[in-house]
Amino acid sequence: MLRIAIQAKGRLNEKTMSLLANAGITASVGSRSLIAHAKGFPVDLLLLRDDDIPQAVAMGTADLGIVGLNEVEEKGADVEQLMKLGFGACRISLAVPRESGYKSLDWFNGKKIATSYPAILSRFLNEQNIKADIQTITGSVEIAPAIGMSDAIFDIVSSGGTLVQNGLVEVKSVLDSEAVLIATPGLSEEKKAEINKLCFRFRSIIDSRGLKYVLMNLPKASLEQALQILPAMKSPTVLPLADSDWLSIHAVIPENLLWERIEQLKAIGAEGILVLVLENIVR
Ligand code: ATP
Ligand code: MG
Repeated sequence: MLRIAIQAKGRLNEKTMSLLANAGITASVGSRSLIAHAKGFPVDLLLLRDDDIPQAVAMGTADLGIVGLNEVEEKGADVEQLMKLGFGACRISLAVPRESGYKSLDWFNGKKIATSYPAILSRFLNEQNIKADIQTITGSVEIAPAIGMSDAIFDIVSSGGTLVQNGLVEVKSVLDSEAVLIATPGLSEEKKAEINKLCFRFRSIIDSRGLKYVLMNLPKASLEQALQILPAMKSPTVLPLADSDWLSIHAVIPENLLWERIEQLKAIGAEGILVLVLENIVR
């Protein structure tokens, strides 16, 4: 039986639960419970604060964890990174007040920088040979300059809206983060085999993101043109219809090309176009 640590509540929880659900793993999680037994795969879910996940996995309290790379890097936990999961994207950046006269990284020499990520920041400052005073705070880092606690901040940025609201500008992005799957080093071969099955499911879900399955009826005479228009995993599936002048075509199309290709297909006579959500691609 594997145990996987996930964020109990917060920004990563919903997408983590839906990744697990798409992989056939469901659990009814009570609002106060710490551990939930899952259906669909021999795994227990351990519900933790995201800060505690790297340590829980390093210690082997959980065999696996789903957590932001930022937390893994900050805690410096001894864990294996198995895969990026394609959600929870953000970066950790240095930001300064708009009127600071900032020109280059030298500006930070002798300055106070507020952050919840002191380890990542001090590693970066050392690399850059900058001597600054790191103020570790846990909440609302973005208001620290306005209330006189610091000259600058080092914090998570996703859209940048919070910085603008607080009169700050991002001057240097230091770490690109997203949710990652981590594992305890040195697990048994048995556990590794189970983990490989899980990774296989996750990989197929991640690979299918942004892809649509499209079906349509097409006049036989337009087939050559349709094959030029359609991308597909190998090549589109072409099936006969009862009416011998028509064909049924099935293809996988990336979301960003979908509407352009559909317009082109309609222009050559495609009808009855169905667009289906692709849940998994098993390679
Ligand atoms: P917990 O109660 O579990 O400690 P938290 O408040 O520390 O939660 P959340 O705000 O839920 O953390 O964020 C969890 C993770 O989501 C972050 O560590 C980061 O990896 C990712 N993330 C993505 N975008 C953002 C964002 N705009 N702000 C904060 N975190 C983000
Ligand atoms: Mg946290």
